[in-house]
Amino acid sequence: MAENRVFSNPGPSQMPSTADVVIIGGGPAGCGALWALERAQPGIRAVLIERGHQLGSGASNASLENFRTAWNSPCNAVMMARSIEVFHNPEEYFGEGVSVGARTRGYLFCGFTETQAAKLRADVDHLHSIGLTHAQYLDHDEVQKQFGWLGKNLIAAKYDPKAGWLDSYALVMALASTARNAIILQEIASTSIIVEGGRVTGVSTPNGTISTPNVIIANGADARATGRTAGVELPIMMRPRQSFTTGWRHAEFPADGPMVIGAAPFQHVRPEAQTGAIFGWEYSWNDKKRRGPGERAERELIDPIYPTDYWKDPRFPSMLLTIMARQFGHRSGGFSSGQYLRGVDHRAGYYVYRDDTAAYEIGADRRHMPYESQRAILDEHPEVAGLFLSIAHVGHGIMSSPAAGEIIASKVLRQPLPHPVYADFGFNVHYVEHDSSGLASDEAAIIDR
Ligand SMILES: Cc1cc2nc3c(=O)[nH]c(=O)nc-3n(C[C@H](O)[C@H](O)[C@H](O)COP(=O)(O)OP(=O)(O)OC[C@H]3O[C@@H](n4cnc5c(N)ncnc54)[C@H](O)[C@@H]3O)c2cc1C
Repeated sequence: MAENRVFSNPGPSQMPSTADVVIIGGGPAGCGALWALERAQPGIRAVLIERGHQLGSGASNASLENFRTAWNSPCNAVMMARSIEVFHNPEEYFGEGVSVGARTRGYLFCGFTETQAAKLRADVDHLHSIGLTHAQYLDHDEVQKQFGWLGKNLIAAKYDPKAGWLDSYALVMALASTARNAIILQEIASTSIIVEGGRVTGVSTPNGTISTPNVIIANGADARATGRTAGVELPIMMRPRQSFTTGWRHAEFPADGPMVIGAAPFQHVRPEAQTGAIFGWEYSWNDKKRRGPGERAERELIDPIYPTDYWKDPRFPSMLLTIMARQFGHRSGGFSSGQYLRGVDHRAGYYVYRDDTAAYEIGADRRHMPYESQRAILDEHPEVAGLFLSIAHVGHGIMSSPAAGEIIASKVLRQPLPHPVYADFGFNVHYVEHDSSGLASDEAAIIDR
């Protein structure tokens, strides 16, 4: 790391006794906050606390490292556009010679039926209506001309030509090392937030106590547990997600091909390195356990289970490939090739979402109707002064990390938000339009009601 001070399991002489702000969690969210604080107020005394032996020890390890611009809600669209600008100009934002490995390769959302094609066209019309005019609807002839190697079943697509992927660890390190005045403490086994008279006064760790008026909780799946030390229950839940990498990719799938996303259940794959591929799927691990007629599927966890390998379903790679092969009509070769299953590196991590107290619509009968929100919470906690949150980054906390850092930094520094639409990431904003679409369409992503 460049010039900031990094200590692992620090002794008393290495522990700072005071800070302007302490960030808990050294993943994309925490490092994004560190970077943005230093940019907004050079010289700020920021301390970042990481539990692991290195930064980026959470969900980013299981991620596909993708970014995309085509978001249905304006707040997410603006946040990703800003972050992608940073990824493409690393020397400007992180210093000479720094790269985060950003590659623009596109995202191809595939349709195989007329109904799916109509939905993709409606999605593109919506994206155009919010100013994302670069999003493209590809009809049968166009999709076959450009992506015919995917097979004859493909009849339409929504295409985001500005999407791509990067090296998430390089990004985390670039964000952290640009904050030259920061102190980074690794291997801190536990951190409690000290609250006195309704406001934050410090953090306590087994290595020592740091006095500070500001704490940012940015530790992903563990944020709820950290919030409890400050006497609050944070409104988040999580689901395990799996991914796997293979060293092999079928010959027709070009190295400069896009991220390919099937129809429901939205399994996806992109090229990895020269010859490999990396796959993911919003695989619902617990859909069968329904509570009763009309009740929602119990698909969420309140507290994480570690190690996350617990969630690796050994059938996941072959199930995913089977669905892809069926959708694309690959009977031999293509996604049906057995070589994809050799030397699989299978991983799991958590998507962290707003829970049903933080994302709901209000029905005609005033009932709260929870939905699956894609909005992070980037705000000060309404009940504890000086307690800031950069949490609930769902499946896009890498691609959003620079802008998310700027948003939370503006809150800490009591400065105006960088963009007015970012108010939608407020703690108490329970609903915004077009917020329920992840990789899926709006309707498909809504939680069973
Ligand atoms: C399968 C999968 C695929 C994904 N694909 C993508 C993708 O393509 N693009 C994308 O943008 N995002 C993707 N994501 C989502 C992305 O990984 C997360 O949104 C992002 O990592 C969240 O960042 P975070 O910093 O909030 O949390 P994390 O990345 O989980 O980092 C939290 C950090 O806090 C540390 N920590 C935990 N507890 C404590 C504590 N008590 N004290 C100190 N430190 C602590 C952890 O060790 C970790 O380093 C994917 C996720 C998964 C699981």
